[in-house]
Amino acid sequence: MLASRWQAFSSSIFSKMSQMAAAHQAVNLAQGFPDFDGPAAIKEAAIQAIRGNFNQYAPSTGLGELRRQLAKRQAEQYGLTYDFAGEVTVFSGATEAIFCCIMGLCGPGDEVLTFEPFFDCYPAATAMAGAVLKTVPLRAPDWSFSVDELRAAVTSRTRVLLLNSPHNPSGKVFNRQELQSLADLAQEKNLIVITDEVYEELFFTPARHLPIARLNGMRDRTITISSTAKTFSLTGWKVGFTFADKKLTELIRIPHQYTVFCSATPLQAGMIAAYQLGQDYYLDFREQYTRRRDTLLGILRKHGFTCKAPEGTYFITADYSQIQDIPDMEFAAWLTEKVGVACLPISSFYLDAENARKNLRLVRFAFCKEVETLEEAGRRLAERLPRALAERT
Ligand code: PMP
Repeated sequence: MLASRWQAFSSSIFSKMSQMAAAHQAVNLAQGFPDFDGPAAIKEAAIQAIRGNFNQYAPSTGLGELRRQLAKRQAEQYGLTYDFAGEVTVFSGATEAIFCCIMGLCGPGDEVLTFEPFFDCYPAATAMAGAVLKTVPLRAPDWSFSVDELRAAVTSRTRVLLLNSPHNPSGKVFNRQELQSLADLAQEKNLIVITDEVYEELFFTPARHLPIARLNGMRDRTITISSTAKTFSLTGWKVGFTFADKKLTELIRIPHQYTVFCSATPLQAGMIAAYQLGQDYYLDFREQYTRRRDTLLGILRKHGFTCKAPEGTYFITADYSQIQDIPDMEFAAWLTEKVGVACLPISSFYLDAENARKNLRLVRFAFCKEVETLEEAGRRLAERLPRALAERT
């Protein structure tokens, strides 16, 4: 019998949709993993690390040289300075970092405030700490929010404001003014900000990523989380990291030490090479993603979806109400089975999925795929969508 604290959770929608995609040989635009590989130099560095006997436990906080590189990059990129020894920590992916942050900071009855829709591990991480997740909506189609609504949701038990920018699944990149309003609220209510910035390099002009830790007074109350998964197309490596003031860092290193202890040593060694890549890597990275985004946007719009160009991430949230008026789970299953293109129902990113299913007609498509893969999805939509629709009526 599943322990009670897990009973609200079932097999994740990412696994379900990927299984369904495999069963129907669908183009899998549901789960956000690239169908291309990360830079050869990083892979080679990890292979060399294994051959060079870098195979025993790393320090729990992460390989010193990797943390030094991470601190250097955070300083160069954003002007944020952290002492690599006491303020930078390596985790097994951003996911583990999120869990350790919440477990380290929150106890039973404490509250974590976040925007909805949200990345799926936030409720689980909160529940495992015995804490309570409270949400305030980002409202489609522009994903705007009200700070007053957020302020009204703060209670004497609220410890953490959990942010995610660029934001999955909406593709929103919070702008300076929005971040300033959140920073003001955090200072007014004395909240710790945990900010999930795994898509920090995935923004599209004119949007730009700004870490909330950059704003006045925020560095020392913010834990910034990022990961190598998206930036270097290495989602299977699960190497994530945090930047935070020494006192906050001490709190999140404890759960890490007693759960994972340390992230895989040779992969950490490989990641050191990632930070030797020059600006060209990032420019090319964004250029390629802009092409992928525009390709998929064109395809979806051509076939009846209504979608805004995302400002960041590698997701497009598409309104399908012009195609069918059915709940999103049904629509995603139908598209996967009958058209051979898999996507994710947006309701799975809400606490009250039932209600979201009733009110929203949105699905999420991932474009971290070769242009040929996206074009194959386009061909299937062209060939099979009219037929599938005719069959239904
Ligand atoms: N946060 C967000 C918003 C994500 O979309 C993801 C990956 N889908 C993660 C965290 C997890 O990152 P990692 O693979 O490094 O654990």
